[in-house]
Amino acid sequence: MSNYDFDLFVIGAGSGGVRASRMASQFGAKVAVAEDTYLGGTCVNVGCVPKKLFVYGSHFPEEVEGAAGYGWKAEAPKFDWPTLRDNKNTEISRLNGIYGNILSNAGVELIQGRATIVDANTVDVGGKHYSAERILIATGGWPKIPQIPGAEHIISSNEAFYMEEFPKRVLVLGGGYIAVEFAGIFNGLGADTELVYRGPLFLRGFDKEVREFTANEVAQKGVKLSFDLNIEAVEKLPSGELNVTMTDGSERVVDCVMAATGRAPKIAGLGLENTKVSVNDNGTVAVNEDYQTDEPSIYAIGDVIGRMELTPVALAEGMALAKTLYNNQPTKVDYDNIATAVFCQPNIGTVGLSEEEGVARGIKLRVYTSDFKHMKHTLSGLSERTFMKLLVDDANDRVVGCHMVGQDAGEIIQGIAIAMKAGATKADFDGTIGIHPTAAEEFVTMREATRTV
Ligand code: NDP
Repeated sequence: MSNYDFDLFVIGAGSGGVRASRMASQFGAKVAVAEDTYLGGTCVNVGCVPKKLFVYGSHFPEEVEGAAGYGWKAEAPKFDWPTLRDNKNTEISRLNGIYGNILSNAGVELIQGRATIVDANTVDVGGKHYSAERILIATGGWPKIPQIPGAEHIISSNEAFYMEEFPKRVLVLGGGYIAVEFAGIFNGLGADTELVYRGPLFLRGFDKEVREFTANEVAQKGVKLSFDLNIEAVEKLPSGELNVTMTDGSERVVDCVMAATGRAPKIAGLGLENTKVSVNDNGTVAVNEDYQTDEPSIYAIGDVIGRMELTPVALAEGMALAKTLYNNQPTKVDYDNIATAVFCQPNIGTVGLSEEEGVARGIKLRVYTSDFKHMKHTLSGLSERTFMKLLVDDANDRVVGCHMVGQDAGEIIQGIAIAMKAGATKADFDGTIGIHPTAAEEFVTMREATRTV
């Protein structure tokens, strides 16, 4: 045991911080974690979990519509926002409690309050100083809102989870995960929804064919997509409505403007100036491959280092750090082939390279694609289509990219990600007997390449 109050002092009880502190404590370290807001961080409180609940919630009208073709006659359902919001809040409170129990059962001391780093081995919380052999920054990120005139009338996803009233007309700004997911939520829950993105096609970085297919499907579901457009100003009218001036000079009157224009690492007031910790140009904390900052006793993981802003990545980083530092088990996170899903409607699931990335790397690719109507919609009468795509390295037959847009894409791609991690070839896919009738079986029955690039 060191002469410090703690072996490890973690700042931030989000996904990464909780995992690192729990594991370190279980390996025998004396650990504290400081948190000034909610336990569980973005994911549990204003991210993945409530978002997914809202996605489920927004899907029911379509289910009811599609049920008619199966013989169910139902009235158009009426939506009550306070019920969804408050039930979600109850579930989140339950999860907050579970996180508290996880920490206390693991023997981690939870210190409530805002932490400031005083020096390389000291943290201040509410005027009390704690010494620690090592400090871990796991403070995550916070939404950024463009500072245009009237920015104070714009909400972020943080506020969207707690709105007093459900808006009738919504403008969602941005073209990343959050914008596309929330446009689907607002639309599905019955709002007149427009997604405004400054570039020519949303979801920059994803496979282009996936982006085009998704844009088509999202528009079919009723979201108005306005690309190559931005907002210039927001003005609150005496009626309480918002008048939005666009970069093309047009105007919109809506009830809510939600910006999903990226997230910034949460480092303000952390006291980094009292240390040798350096910050990258994009505001992320600079770390080496062992998550160590330029101040050797201070480490950082999760969204605050911005490697991949995903909960499972923060968990893996927290676990790797705890094993390396406190279990004599040097561990590195493998950032290749991390599967991810965008819970827009229909979902996107993706793992590995996009076609564009493959081409840029000089890989000769065999491209297999399939675009079909899900069996469920033969009777539901809904127009939704499903898209699947496999990218195969022609030199060695390895599957290097797999993409899907359609119902349960996230669930299906998780399994494919295991196969790709294990180095599966197209011949392995072809030699796998499908589960019939499923949509997923299409991945093992794509015989003819659509093209070679
Ligand atoms: P992203 O960084 O993914 O997207 C930000 C979007 O906002 C981009 O389309 C960007 O445009 C646009 N933008 C940025 N600045 C401006 C501006 N000033 N005016 C207009 N548009 C602007 O951020 P998100 O907020 O969507 O999500 C943050 C991260 O959280 C994601 O990257 C993801 O890692 C994670 N996340 C993961 C989820 C999941 O796994 N399902 C769900 C939600 C979030 P451009 O493309 O031109 O840069």
